[in-house]
Amino acid sequence: MSFLKVSNLTKEYANHCVVNDISFSIEQGEFISLLGPSGCGKSTTLNMIAGLESPSGGEIHLGTNNITHLPPGKRGLSMVFQSYALFPHLTVKENILFGLKARRVDKQEQIKRLKHAIELVGLGEHIHKKPSQLSGGQCQRVALARSIASQAPLCLMDEPLSNLDTKLRNEMRNELRQLQKSLGLTLVYVTHDQIEAMSMADKIILLNQGQVEQQGTPESFYQQPESTFVARFIGHPPMNLIPHGEHVIGIRPEHIELNSAGHAATINSCDYQGATTVINADIVSGPYQGAKDIQLSLMGKHHLSTGALLNILWPEQEQHLFSKTTGKRLAGV
Ligand code: ADP
Ligand code: MG
Repeated sequence: MSFLKVSNLTKEYANHCVVNDISFSIEQGEFISLLGPSGCGKSTTLNMIAGLESPSGGEIHLGTNNITHLPPGKRGLSMVFQSYALFPHLTVKENILFGLKARRVDKQEQIKRLKHAIELVGLGEHIHKKPSQLSGGQCQRVALARSIASQAPLCLMDEPLSNLDTKLRNEMRNELRQLQKSLGLTLVYVTHDQIEAMSMADKIILLNQGQVEQQGTPESFYQQPESTFVARFIGHPPMNLIPHGEHVIGIRPEHIELNSAGHAATINSCDYQGATTVINADIVSGPYQGAKDIQLSLMGKHHLSTGALLNILWPEQEQHLFSKTTGKRLAGV
């Protein structure tokens, strides 16, 4: 039996279906990322698990309990929002203890949990400050500490790092991942950022227009995208898709190499990015003649001028194959 099981979950607003028959399950201690573009139904799905929105159809089970219609406070879960949702008039300490007081947790136990949570997120010196005296990153840590102190068996997070600058976001990604593992938290983490999902999650559930497009490990998303949508969503630069007869050929920019035996191509642009150089070119010979804006990512620095010719090739085993009509994966690596 799974720790959390979401079955055929659906949400309609005024006859418009924003979450459409979603099913997935999560094991205890897993880090799951709900990934997808803006507006695909991630927050709505998370809010239904939290009990903040009621489903139009489907069921949610936590262990053997059907929690579909339980009020949020009775579900045994904690939630971290993108906006932190801290009380502005309460100190860090009071914010963290708020839920424990409301649930009348024993005083000594409250202090023990507070100390532990504060230590984990490194907020010791700020404990008597109010949110307005803290940076965005520190507020985020308070929200995390509150979630940790609740010791809820399931933790839900909705884009919790999106308000932070890049450096802090990278640090927090690592901290959060370590924390989740060391505490054995079961975590559902919503993000639109494929890199965040790929680097943090044990399992990714990718949503597209309210439906599950693919679910599985980060490796399976990279190696076996089940549709052209997934192929383009995961990886940077995105996978090249080349229409070819009944099919669409997929090839990742990092799998294309310069090879004198390859297809001739003219260069549209050449962008040096530090570790790699990304080249955009149109294929002008061979079976893929006419394919435009093919991107290749080469290691190191390459000086190639616009309009110049080069020859490109990729190993056949790195090629992905999709149906032109359905966009679904047919074969390939
Ligand atoms: P995401 O979190 O993936 O960006 P949301 O779950 O917030 O997406 O929203 C999914 C879709 O549902 C969007 O098109 C949004 O406009 C719509 N939606 C969300 N909440 C409501 C609501 N209360 N009433 C009507 N439409 C809503
Ligand atoms: Mg959202």
